Amino acid sequence: DLPVIYAITPTYARPVQKAELTRLSHTFRLVPALHWIIVEDASKPSALVGKLVNKSGIPHTILTAPTPKEWKLREKDPNWKKPRGVLQRNRALQWLRENLKPKDKAVIYFADDDNVYSLELFDEMRWTKGVSVWPVGLVGGLLVERPILNPKTGRVTGWNAAWRPERPFPIDMAGFAISAPLLLSRPNAKFSLTSDRGFQESHLLQALTTRDKLEPRADRCTKVYVWHTRTESPKLNAELARRKAKKNMND
Ligand code: UDP
Ligand code: MN
Repeated sequence: DLPVIYAITPTYARPVQKAELTRLSHTFRLVPALHWIIVEDASKPSALVGKLVNKSGIPHTILTAPTPKEWKLREKDPNWKKPRGVLQRNRALQWLRENLKPKDKAVIYFADDDNVYSLELFDEMRWTKGVSVWPVGLVGGLLVERPILNPKTGRVTGWNAAWRPERPFPIDMAGFAISAPLLLSRPNAKFSLTSDRGFQESHLLQALTTRDKLEPRADRCTKVYVWHTRTESPKLNAELARRKAKKNMND
């Protein structure tokens, strides 16, 4: 039997949400033995997410975890000002701890709703024993941010990161997977709202592993199978103008 991949996706309501989740669900439909954990940043589940996921036929669990108002990005804030997806990912980790057994063969992956995933990625991560790592495209100011390996031993010796390379694990959320037995053996491993900018991944990984234990994938970290793409917010001025006009008519 294939180990099950538990893909954790934080998501929030916005004009592009359905488009993002449609693209992601169409990728996941092509991945065998995948269980999709969607965590809505809301106090109750939405009809939009429920319908879309049901229609996809993908085995799934829908959870909710609202980000408190003081931790939400405001419209004009640059996106780095506050951490995103933190409480949602922690909610999913809690669910996994409550629902998996220590010996279950399974892998955990954080799959944000706006990235692009190639199918090879899932074959690579499925056999993770502890923590596996690979390159991520279009992140940290680089075309590719990747682990650097010792050519003789094939172990990770560092990263090519340009942005905050001093981080203990200068790696993007999309660049690693964790085996379920390892996660269950470390009950304190989770994300923190108060981590410094860019230190979410390091905060979690420091509770799980050390650099020398990482398992490099994607052909010794030479291939790119995931891209940290970001979707531009659409300009909906005409939409808003029409809504205002309609409201005035009804007043
Ligand atoms: N997200 C969320 N609530 C928010 C903002 C983001 O649940 O208020 C989710 C988002 O849908 C995505 C993940 O958290 O799956 C990371 O957010 P984003 O892609 O905006 O972060 P970036 O890629 O810019 O770091
Ligand atoms: Mn993103």
